[in-house]
Amino acid sequence: MANSRQKYVVVGAGPVGSLAALYAAKRGYQVEIYELRSDLRDPSTTPLNFTKSINLALSERGINAMRHADHEKLLQHVFSATIPMRGRMIHGRRPDGALYEAAQDYDAHGRVRYNMSLHLCCLAMSRKSLTVEQTIYAVDRAGLNKRLLDILDDMPNVKFFFNHKLTGADFQKRKAWFERRDQTATSDRPAEIEIDFDLMIGADGAHSAVRYHLMKFTRMNYNQEYIDTLWCEFQIKSRNLPNSQSIESRFRISPNHLHIWPGKAFMFIAIPSDDGSFTCTLFMPGVNFATLEANPSELPAFFDSHFPGVTSLIKPEELISSFQANPHLPLISIKCKPYHFSSSVVIVGDAAHAMVPFYGQGMNAGLEDVRILFSILDKHASTESNDPNRPEVSDAAFQRATALNEYSTLRVADAHAINDLALQNYIEMRASVLSRLYRVRKFLEEFLSVHVPSLGWHTQYSRVSFGNERYSEVVARSQHQGKVLTRGLLHASDQAGFEAHLNPLGVCYYFFTMSSPFNPYAEQHRDPKGPEDERPTAFQVLEDNKLLQAWPDKIV
Ligand code: FAD
Repeated sequence: MANSRQKYVVVGAGPVGSLAALYAAKRGYQVEIYELRSDLRDPSTTPLNFTKSINLALSERGINAMRHADHEKLLQHVFSATIPMRGRMIHGRRPDGALYEAAQDYDAHGRVRYNMSLHLCCLAMSRKSLTVEQTIYAVDRAGLNKRLLDILDDMPNVKFFFNHKLTGADFQKRKAWFERRDQTATSDRPAEIEIDFDLMIGADGAHSAVRYHLMKFTRMNYNQEYIDTLWCEFQIKSRNLPNSQSIESRFRISPNHLHIWPGKAFMFIAIPSDDGSFTCTLFMPGVNFATLEANPSELPAFFDSHFPGVTSLIKPEELISSFQANPHLPLISIKCKPYHFSSSVVIVGDAAHAMVPFYGQGMNAGLEDVRILFSILDKHASTESNDPNRPEVSDAAFQRATALNEYSTLRVADAHAINDLALQNYIEMRASVLSRLYRVRKFLEEFLSVHVPSLGWHTQYSRVSFGNERYSEVVARSQHQGKVLTRGLLHASDQAGFEAHLNPLGVCYYFFTMSSPFNPYAEQHRDPKGPEDERPTAFQVLEDNKLLQAWPDKIV
């Protein structure tokens, strides 16, 4: 096979690097994987940045990238250890002090939503199909990574180099240098090794060394931002039951939801693990962390006031000990371009576009990078070079350079789009899930998606998490959809004088009657029961512009 003479070096054996290595190995290249840490499968290895492995939300893009890896057992392996999460479960406290849980299922075609009003329940119950089709999956990040490494281990053209840290690279000469960290140097085992390669794939995470060296070879635009939020891990333990009991009965809260305790400035989430426990994450501004670090004994009261019900799931003393033992880590958002130089290097995953975790897309986007990169490499591998100006460049290198250039051009727009969405989704997860306006838009988009499928409408979340459309197109469509929806409804409402009409759009008009609990204008501005001539027209709402500003762009 022609590819067998070419060497692809992957730096970083995280989930993205491992999948890239699998794609390259499947195409017959000689693959070498260099990883800073020791083998993750060695029980003594502590995962980078984490006290223990974290649970992630795996969704369609990540699954699709693994589907295209052309390895029959990969998805089987992965799904054997995932838990489907069919929606969000919002936790809170009612004004009368009672705790509540409210499910928001992801699947517009799915089961009855018991958090919505009677009207919505009636509509939902009239649907024929109650099966849930759209779901995300809780997966143990280290478990997924180990499965990929196991698969690579069985491939004859793959070599691992653990405990090797990239320290230098010359992308003109296609040479790189790695520091060996496993043992002290001897004359026959130098502390640093030099290697050569045809293509280096940099999948070495947010603080990528490949990206750092790439910057010396290309005019890279680079932007990094630490948001003013730190995160810390907690755990909801499984119920201590006899072994004869089913695993389902060990979960203290629904295993099939991503649990969110929203707060205006804070957020606590819980993702299920297959042993009946939940990995939880507290997201909070640095200043609040500092206050609680100084007075950790206040943590249980803080949780009671902001995340009601959590102290009945995690003992107060465990809350305090986890808060003190587990690191308080920052969240970084990185945008850069381009992602490549010539035919010799390309960066993928967090190395190219680390993002805040609020859309659950960081790893999914990284895995998707791999699928898209190799589809473009494959496309160009079959074209012949006829460039007379580059006689010294082999066909393969020429094709790769063209492919990498195309990849960078295509992918930058999408990576930037999901980076921005991830930041915006922090607002949605903390606060918008509680807003009526948010739920109205979600309902209307889902309603149109189910009942008028020819419109092709879906929520932005659904397009991001359950489809493979380019992220930049998702954003463009969603913004367009939001504008059409807002203008259409306001126009219709104005014409109807805010009265209900039972035609196909009647349900939409209904939401804009002044007595509707879903009327965002009534919610935000005036007494809906005021004298009729003092009520605003829809166009006044438009002029007021607040609704337009709030709706199409910020509420996703
Ligand atoms: P990494 O996982 O960072 O792997 C990089 C690898 O490179 C590491 O193994 C590292 O040791 C190695 N390396 C580093 N430097 C060098 C060097 N100089 N030489 C050699 N090797 C090196 N994503 C989702 O899709 N869904 C979620 O629900 C989700 N939740 C998240 C929650 C939190 C709290 C956080 C922080 C992130 C979350 N993410 C989520 C994002 C996800 O964790 C990352 O996007 C993903 O791990 C990136 O994978 P990667 O392989 O690109 O990089």
